Amino acid sequence: MKSLSFEGQRVLLGRLEKGEDILNGLTEFCILNGVRVGSVQAIGAVQRGGVGYYDQAATTYRETRFEEGMEIASLVGNISQKEGEVFLHCHVILADAEGHCFGGHLLEGNVAFACEFVVTALDGPVPERTFDEATGLMLW
Ligand code: ZN
Repeated sequence: MKSLSFEGQRVLLGRLEKGEDILNGLTEFCILNGVRVGSVQAIGAVQRGGVGYYDQAATTYRETRFEEGMEIASLVGNISQKEGEVFLHCHVILADAEGHCFGGHLLEGNVAFACEFVVTALDGPVPERTFDEATGLMLW
């Protein structure tokens, strides 16, 4: 187990514009606001979207794409650094018109219909993602 400790935090509230890519928009928000470590949560809806599933045996992501509007029932993620750049790792639950949910790793290509978010920025050490032999993932 690894852990870091933080003394202070700053909370920011924001909203993406209709048509913005959610992962890229949230990342850009963090860069513009100097957020290098912390967490993010969001709700709203996508015009189209997709989730990833990490195939542990193949050590690659499988993608499931949706071409219809869906609710963002939940989006949670963390903010750290990868190769010196701000990097968001988010997971999302998308709900269709019947309330059926699909969840997984937030991919690029989730296009906002509406997206309200809260970013909690932490003061302290910035975790850097490095390759983890045991999982094949870039982890902090
Ligand atoms: Zn993930």
